Amino acid sequence: MSNLEDLYREVILDHYRTPRNKGELPPPAVCTEGSNPLCGDEIKIFLDVRDGIVHDVRFSGHGCSISQASASMMTTAVKGKPVDAVRAVAKRFKQMMTIEEDDGSTPADVKLGDIEALQGVVKYPVRIKCAVLGWNTLLEGLATVGA
Ligand code: ZN
Repeated sequence: MSNLEDLYREVILDHYRTPRNKGELPPPAVCTEGSNPLCGDEIKIFLDVRDGIVHDVRFSGHGCSISQASASMMTTAVKGKPVDAVRAVAKRFKQMMTIEEDDGSTPADVKLGDIEALQGVVKYPVRIKCAVLGWNTLLEGLATVGA
């Protein structure tokens, strides 16, 4: 198990040190902001959604390694995906983070891939909010564009 935990730690640190899709998108892309005052994490998500597809996504902000790595992983997981698929991955992620019940409604083929590296965070309840921040901000953005 410790080898797996080392691998997970590497994945998280890699995203923290070399964030993917970091930056901003100009309007008409929507921008939503989220924060986690307990930890000092701040995230902005920029979304370009057209025809039910997340064409592009960027994030900016600062905070702990969990919040920033999770946001980076989130962008790689949702870019180019249909909004329905994005919502399904978000739901599965929240189930992994134990903040949503697994009601069996998420298809088994919805995979988290690298995002599974964050599952160890569940052992540290105060950090769960850090891990979920980027995803919640993303979902707010999707709601803003009516997607
Ligand atoms: Zn944090």
